[in-house]
Amino acid sequence: MLSEPTSNDSGSKSMSDCIFCKIIKGEIPCQAVYEDDLIFAFDDINPQAPVHTLIIPKQHYVSLKDIPEEKMGFISHLMSTARDIAEKKGISESGFRIVLNTGRDSGQDVFHIHFHLLGGRRMSWPPG
Ligand code: AMP
Ligand code: ZN
Repeated sequence: MLSEPTSNDSGSKSMSDCIFCKIIKGEIPCQAVYEDDLIFAFDDINPQAPVHTLIIPKQHYVSLKDIPEEKMGFISHLMSTARDIAEKKGISESGFRIVLNTGRDSGQDVFHIHFHLLGGRRMSWPPG
């Protein structure tokens, strides 16, 4: 039976070697888009659309299912920031998609929760 990646796989679940935690700390370079006390946004290294920005909490959570109920409040702040970034990047009127991959079947590769903001081209549905 297939299992979710462990710390031995490239998509590590541990905070100490989390690529996105390293980006937040400035240990790995990125194209930063937005930062405040709670969240960080940067352009995806392998963009799937003319605009492809990742928005993440500074706190390390593996995925949506790992956030305790009482800590869910930052999601609304994150969504409103995504909306602001869409506006700043000029895709607010044309439209955009926000994607949150969670777990193996979704294709989640990096195990620090992140929202993809995608836009600038026409997208199809259903997703692949
Ligand atoms: P997911 O498949 O939802 O886990 O998405 C992970 C995303 O992280 C992919 O779109 C990658 O291109 C992106 N990514 C991985 N490493 C980096 C990096 N160093 N800087 C920016 N984006 C990255
Ligand atoms: Zn992390």
